[in-house]
Amino acid sequence: MKENSIPEPNHFLEEIVAADLAAGKYESILTRFPPEPNGYLHIGHSKSICLNFDLAAKYGGKTNLRFDDTNPSTEETEYVESILADVRWLGFEPANIYYASNYFDQLYEWALQLIRMGKAYVDFSTPEEVAAMKGTPTEPGTPSKYRNASVEENLEQFERMRKGDYPDGHCTLRAKIDLAAPNMHLRDPYLYRIKHAHHHRTGDKWCIYPMYDWAHGQSDSIENITHSICTLEFIPHRDLYNWFIEQLGIFPSKQYEFARLNLNYTIMSKRKLLQLVKEHHVSGWDDPRMPTISGLRRRGFTPESIREFARRVGVAKRENLIEFSLLEFCVREDLNKRALRRFAVLRPLKVVVTNFPEDQVEWLETENNPEDPEGGKRPIAFARHLWIEQDDFMENPPPKYFRLSPGNMVRLKSAYIIQCEAVVKDDAGNLTEVHCRYIPESRSGADTSGLKVQGVIHWLAEGHTQTAEVRLYDRLFQVEDPAAEADFKQALNPNSLEYIPNALVEPALHVANAQDYFQFTRLGYFCLDPDSTEDKKVFNRTVTLKDSWSKGQKK
Ligand code: ATP
Ligand code: MG
Repeated sequence: MKENSIPEPNHFLEEIVAADLAAGKYESILTRFPPEPNGYLHIGHSKSICLNFDLAAKYGGKTNLRFDDTNPSTEETEYVESILADVRWLGFEPANIYYASNYFDQLYEWALQLIRMGKAYVDFSTPEEVAAMKGTPTEPGTPSKYRNASVEENLEQFERMRKGDYPDGHCTLRAKIDLAAPNMHLRDPYLYRIKHAHHHRTGDKWCIYPMYDWAHGQSDSIENITHSICTLEFIPHRDLYNWFIEQLGIFPSKQYEFARLNLNYTIMSKRKLLQLVKEHHVSGWDDPRMPTISGLRRRGFTPESIREFARRVGVAKRENLIEFSLLEFCVREDLNKRALRRFAVLRPLKVVVTNFPEDQVEWLETENNPEDPEGGKRPIAFARHLWIEQDDFMENPPPKYFRLSPGNMVRLKSAYIIQCEAVVKDDAGNLTEVHCRYIPESRSGADTSGLKVQGVIHWLAEGHTQTAEVRLYDRLFQVEDPAAEADFKQALNPNSLEYIPNALVEPALHVANAQDYFQFTRLGYFCLDPDSTEDKKVFNRTVTLKDSWSKGQKK
């Protein structure tokens, strides 16, 4: 009988897992997401998170979150907390939360074991000497003069390293493998370095810290990780990963590699993102222009849209560059279904409806969300004095301009058709207001006017508004691949943030909550920013309604 309980695989990693399960290699699978807590997670990490958690969930397994905290000088508790919060916000709950630093004792024991096996030695050569002795891929390396020290001597020197007898960089512990190996990673790699630094979890207990290669595979093995998934740059590390596990005779975790996510107009290196934060090019890790999960969250991206994005990007074995517009497409699709429609006027122009009585207000209705049958309607005030967008009026329009212009008609959304009769200017010749008449028979939903107008614009009634600050964002970088620039900061877009301090929004937005998503009619999707106060709300534009980028044209 066919193994019909094993779900159909959709990519090569799922194929590996399905085959392993079909062969009875594992009872259940265990994956892990292993961030180094040296920064906030970015959209690239979300690809790895979704991959690890979804793969395990699909095949009935589990996923650990493991903080790969082996480098004390760059790691902080703040990062640990933000990473956990981001993973949860994306919608995933780790089966276990572990820290590589919890394994420092075990790793130390295993290092002693390797030394006793004659497979590790303390080397006092300088990094330059070690590099020179490594050889080249076509020429074997030359042994360090410390390579053949006795087991006793190595045990003693390693103990002195651990005790703190030596300053930083004085010596290292290296594995004794093969100086002629075609894979340079096997030419006696470093296992430990001396670093007299305070660790965010182990404090001052250690002054020797394990290298990535020495910590990672063994941590996987300690946790019984079955499929250890990482990005392609770790392919050359795989032999070493296996060598350590074989030598120690521990649980045989296996490493598999996939192509990292690259996104245009973005950088995805925590080190570079940290520079942007430290040098105040952005307001923080959660600046809405940042490609971090916390930045995207503050910008108004939903976890669903990010998960959908990860799904659409797929799992590849070859690197490629994904369009940022795909991420925007995903969030538009999601927000179109759930965002509450509201009116906002970013740059107000006054309209006087000359045939509407001065002291009268007419209450009209407009839909909260036409995509949601249960969205309902809300009242919206219509009056003699209105606000429209400055952009929606042109005194001397080009042909085919369907918005308001002298003599022209336009529909006010969910209200009436108006026709421009006159413009009013101040002494300096600046437009101050536009006079229109409205067509009483043209009310939306009850239009008997017989008029056909092409343009529909949004609007608000004077006195029925709140003032809000609106922040509009553009790409943080002006070039597709900022990481390829000599100095990525030179590629920053100087116009990536536009403040509109006094936009007008519907009074209904006064009760906006941080979790709410809005569509400001015709303007885009927006969310409330945490900078909001009781007196003044601040809204971030998540994305415009249409893609203005893939056509190579900015809005
Ligand atoms: P960075 O260079 O941004 O610091 P990193 O790879 O050093 O990235 P880690 O914290 O070590 O960051 O990454 C945790 C996990 O996320 C690793 O398994 C890594 O392979 C994966 N990851 C990091 N960046 C990406 C990316 N752009 N696409 C897919 N997976 C990624
Ligand atoms: Mg890393």
